[in-house]
Amino acid sequence: MQKYILSLDAGTTSNRAILFNHAGEIVNMAQQEFEQIYPKGGWVEHDPKTIWETQLKVAKEVIQKQNISPGQIEAIGITNQRETTIVWNRETGEPIFNAIVWQDRRTAGFCDDLLEQGLEKMVTEKTGLVIDAYFSGTKVKWILDHVEGARELAKAGKLAFGTVDTWLIWNLTGGKLHVTDVSNASRTLMFNIKTLEWDYELLKMLNVPFEMLPEVKSSSEIYGHTSKELFGAEIPIAGIAGDQQAALFGQMCIEEGMVKNTYGTGCFVVMNTGDKPIVSKNRLLSTIGWQIDGKVTYALEGSIFIGGAVVQWLRDKLGIIKTAPEIEALAKEVEDNGGIAFVQGFVGLGAPHWDQYATGTIIGLSRGTGKAHIARAALEAIAFRSMEVIETMVEDSEIELHELRVDGGASANNLLMQIQADAINTKVVRPKITETTALGAAYLAGLTTGYWSSIEEVKKQWQVDEVFTPGTNLEKTRQAIASWKRAIELSKNWYQSH
Ligand code: ADP
Repeated sequence: MQKYILSLDAGTTSNRAILFNHAGEIVNMAQQEFEQIYPKGGWVEHDPKTIWETQLKVAKEVIQKQNISPGQIEAIGITNQRETTIVWNRETGEPIFNAIVWQDRRTAGFCDDLLEQGLEKMVTEKTGLVIDAYFSGTKVKWILDHVEGARELAKAGKLAFGTVDTWLIWNLTGGKLHVTDVSNASRTLMFNIKTLEWDYELLKMLNVPFEMLPEVKSSSEIYGHTSKELFGAEIPIAGIAGDQQAALFGQMCIEEGMVKNTYGTGCFVVMNTGDKPIVSKNRLLSTIGWQIDGKVTYALEGSIFIGGAVVQWLRDKLGIIKTAPEIEALAKEVEDNGGIAFVQGFVGLGAPHWDQYATGTIIGLSRGTGKAHIARAALEAIAFRSMEVIETMVEDSEIELHELRVDGGASANNLLMQIQADAINTKVVRPKITETTALGAAYLAGLTTGYWSSIEEVKKQWQVDEVFTPGTNLEKTRQAIASWKRAIELSKNWYQSH
């Protein structure tokens, strides 16, 4: 009887269930989008029940589509949108508020207060993070402050906090398990990434009771089993990792110094830094990659908020392309950017600039500028911002880069990948399976149950689709980078000066 690993990939806009076979290939998939709730500017919520119901539905659907019995599922691996915060009642299983999504900025003011109190150094030393509304801690505090009676209930141990992994596992096990893994815990602002414990000083700073926190486990072990009534079999739940960490694992970036970049709506560059967290001089995030067999692997992370979103902007707002992939042919109509530079500072600029007043900019326009130049400059913008983050990472870690592994929707763009290779003067490698997030979670689960015998075995499954080597265009790319860097400077501080 053929067995499979079921990966549950709980994303920000959709939930997916993917079945992998022993060769690490996708055999079937089901996906469903769910509602994004925007109660007011800067606020983003999800309905926790919808997250659970959608995830359960696609899991059942993929089993049905493949026409297998639940007993053929060796194990479940879970990967999830990170930092998104859910608080529920342990007795009823009812959430006391909507999930506050990672993008939500409602706690920015409180974060400013913490920064003013000079707390960032302590927070960064313990968590590897910076003080920002992005992480879970201040979101938990907000829920406890705003839902009547919540803090008292939490202190009495009657409420549970969890990120999406924790919420799904609670529901998958009928409320038996309240757990998370180290990679998700490391994004909460409450977890000490060196001692691997919830930190009392941080909990005090946030006024969050310890009683509501999940137990922190490794990323690859049998945490428990699904309730029988869900799938008709008790399936082991055996792997958990946050989405970017799972992608790093799915890309088999398992040696120190290996780096992946995911080109989705935003770009997420993550480097494996081995058995120690690296303190960034440029406010990159130090985080936990995973813990397997007791051994923790750390990572350095830089996020670029606008990646493929630039392409969406050209499609939806400028209307110069009808579909995202069309940008490649359009950009290829010209040999270079015609002297223009594009900065995607639509929501400000992150590492290493950290300027929230920067703006989107196209500069160098002449009468000869056409849409193809803009398309090309937009692709360069994605590659050049990634280059900056990668260079910062190399500087912080003092680890030389040998190759960049890529995935995500926009990694299908060959021209973009070539520009990237030229920009970093390093080869860019695209694997055959770019669903690396789900694959990473599947590997974490299958490794612990013995479905795969060792990391060495799964490492052999990682296969190259295409390698992009730095090409003949290096000089031209260097010039484009030089003008683009000038454009970046011009894009800064725009809003303040008004
Ligand atoms: P997410 O997981 O963030 O939703 P995906 O990994 O699905 O993102 O990638 C979708 C993003 O990639 C979109 O922003 C889209 O504009 C961009 N994209 C998709 N295909 C291409 C392409 N061929 N060239 C450039 N960008 C692309």
